[in-house]
Amino acid sequence: MSNKTIKTDVLIIGASASGLMCAIQAGMRGRNVTVLDHANRAGKKILMSGGGRCNFTNMDIDAANFISHNKHFCKSALSRYTQWDFIAMVNAHRIPYHERDLGKLFCDDSAKDILNMLLQECKKAKVKIQLNCDIKDIEKHADGMYDINTSSGNFHSRSLVIASGGLSIPKMCASPLGYKVAEQFGHHIWPTSPGLVPFTLQPHDKEKLEVLSGVSVDCMVSNRRIQFKESILFTHRGLSGPAILQISSYWKPGETITINLLPDLSVIDLLTAKREKQPQLKLKTVLVDVLPRRLLAVLLGTETIEQPLQNLSRERICAIAEILHNWQIKPNATEGYRTAEVTLGGVDCDELSSKTMESRLTSGLYFIGEVVDVTGWLGGYNFQWAWSSGWCAGQAV
Ligand SMILES: Cc1cc2nc3c(=O)[nH]c(=O)nc-3n(C[C@H](O)[C@H](O)[C@H](O)COP(=O)(O)OP(=O)(O)OC[C@H]3O[C@@H](n4cnc5c(N)ncnc54)[C@H](O)[C@@H]3O)c2cc1C
Repeated sequence: MSNKTIKTDVLIIGASASGLMCAIQAGMRGRNVTVLDHANRAGKKILMSGGGRCNFTNMDIDAANFISHNKHFCKSALSRYTQWDFIAMVNAHRIPYHERDLGKLFCDDSAKDILNMLLQECKKAKVKIQLNCDIKDIEKHADGMYDINTSSGNFHSRSLVIASGGLSIPKMCASPLGYKVAEQFGHHIWPTSPGLVPFTLQPHDKEKLEVLSGVSVDCMVSNRRIQFKESILFTHRGLSGPAILQISSYWKPGETITINLLPDLSVIDLLTAKREKQPQLKLKTVLVDVLPRRLLAVLLGTETIEQPLQNLSRERICAIAEILHNWQIKPNATEGYRTAEVTLGGVDCDELSSKTMESRLTSGLYFIGEVVDVTGWLGGYNFQWAWSSGWCAGQAV
């Protein structure tokens, strides 16, 4: 272990999305910036994001796409550094990208392009990045300076930025450090829980639905608070896919979710009209045009789907419609932090400046990115929050 003391204007803990953006901005303002990270590589989550293609932002960014105990907090940062600002940086680096459904922007080639862009900008801004660095303790002195004791030496800085992310995916170096530092300086932390995470199923549902592993369906998933129209995916562990990940951030243990497997058509109208015109058609022949056969067999039963339409009474059609439009399922749990994309809860926004992300309790201390109680929907919103909050702190440190 080294005993050297390194003086720096700005010390940032976390060399990933929010920390690198903050470092670039502060460095460009002429600040001497050091970023510390215990990982052996910067931006691990960027590299694994969006299936390796990084969904780096969204064309439609709005405060309504974020979950927080203070729903107004994110507005200032999101309006000061917008998706257009980040897209301009991506364009300046000639990174090829494309738009997918619901305004999501992905790299054409690789998430590496985004990380390399940030690292190149860091280099230009003369930012120092120290990897494999364990943070031992942090102290604030009466003169307002912070001392950060680490495995790479003692750092002495006026501004300390916590960009250490949430608890999701411990294998990717997630740790509770940010919450611990917040607590050390008297901050309130909203309870944390995994968000954007697949559901596991109750044993009876798991047994019934296991055979559907790999089946994906566009549907509407809802609970009492919100609804999402995207696809769901049956897996060997339970339910996943965009609509499930979205609702998981609004789910409380024990709650039932509702899945409308055919949100764009009326099963009653379809079956009644077909029964009139072609009564001998089998139910499966009609429904297989709109839903996978395997799913129909599991939900309606093989005997039912073999029935000719003429055998189906009005009541039976209504019962079939109810199953397909209003399927109620009570997840057992979520898969937890092991696979969650984000962490809900975190550092209470009411104790931070929405303009600079600086603590209202301790001057010179900043919290940015996922450690803050701002969690985006699936779709590039979490990175946009990291860029925007990092940028704002970068103007102030
Ligand atoms: C599989 C997966 C896919 C995702 N895909 C997308 C996507 O496509 N689009 C999107 O918008 N969001 C996506 N996200 C979410 C997004 O990655 C995060 O919201 C974002 O990375 C948060 O940025 P951050 O800088 O706050 O934290 P992080 O990116 O988590 O970075 C925190 C950094 O701090 C370091 N650190 C942690 N603890 C310590 C410690 N004790 N000492 C030193 N360093 C420490 C970590 O090593 C890490 O480098 C995805 C997440 C996952 C897990």
